[in-house]
Amino acid sequence: MKTEKISIIVPCYNEEEALPLFYEEITKVAKQMEKVEFEFMFINDGSKDKTLDILRELSKKDKRVRYVSFSRNFGKEAAMYAGFDNVTGDYVAVMDADLQDPPALLPEMFQAIKEEGYDSVATRRVTRAGEPPIRSFFARMFYKIINKISKADIVDGARDYRLMTRQMVDAILSMGEYNRFSKGIFGWVGFNTKWLAYENVERVAGETKWNFWKLFLYSLEGIVGFSTVPLTIASVFGLLFCFIAFIMIIVIIFKTLMFGDPVSGWPSTTCIIFFVSGVQLFCLGIIGQYLSKTYLETKKRPIYITKETEKTN
Ligand code: UDP
Ligand code: MG
Repeated sequence: MKTEKISIIVPCYNEEEALPLFYEEITKVAKQMEKVEFEFMFINDGSKDKTLDILRELSKKDKRVRYVSFSRNFGKEAAMYAGFDNVTGDYVAVMDADLQDPPALLPEMFQAIKEEGYDSVATRRVTRAGEPPIRSFFARMFYKIINKISKADIVDGARDYRLMTRQMVDAILSMGEYNRFSKGIFGWVGFNTKWLAYENVERVAGETKWNFWKLFLYSLEGIVGFSTVPLTIASVFGLLFCFIAFIMIIVIIFKTLMFGDPVSGWPSTTCIIFFVSGVQLFCLGIIGQYLSKTYLETKKRPIYITKETEKTN
């Protein structure tokens, strides 16, 4: 008699090549863990290839396979949220379809929750092998900065791959924000987390959906979503410049009184105008970032839209 259920959430965007391999691998692990019931929740995030067909097939032949298919591509964050929203398990894991999150770690993760009393077991990769060095450099810098300016504990190299209890899943669902940054959300909800480290694994098939620009925007999402320090920086700049201007006014008044006022200083004036307006635009940009996120939040748009599930098919 199987008493407990693990749900596996798998966001899929154009994963026709990886999916069959993933399914094979995960069912092997499920077989090993014979005391536990499984539910595989695939989220088809508006794939343009045969991903949905594969999911339909799988769900017909294996009752453990369920899926939610979006009306368009909403992004991995929305896919994970949809997964949390729809699974029924007592324990829930998020896993990539490309086998970069080794399903073989699952028994160990489950054991840590059952026997060592953790609420969540997360994974981080200790190497960034196979990644362009410049990307690693910026990634490292991002983690350094965000951990300085945010209260949420955001771990360098952390994957979204983790197993957690129903209690933690409900906490995550209660954070219904539109601009989602899961690495921050997982840290923000708290609970006891055990970290497992493993060597980076390369994708089995297909290719990564991330380019440098997308990662950059995602990192902004993280900073704006989990820290208001940039806004403080804008105020500090303002104060600093007022102070400098004040000193300059006094110096200029004294200089004029003592040495007269020959016409000069045009280049320095231009430089100052450029510099100060640069700083102003930068600060305006920071405020704009927060304003745009607030704007999107206040619209209360749904995080994802379902077009089809295994039940409606
Ligand atoms: N993914 C998704 N929607 C997207 C982009 C990616 O659901 O818009 C899924 C993708 O199918 C994969 C996971 O998110 O299962 C991680 O994507 P990827 O492997 O491209 O990222 P990387 O591992 O390179 O960080
Ligand atoms: Mg991947």
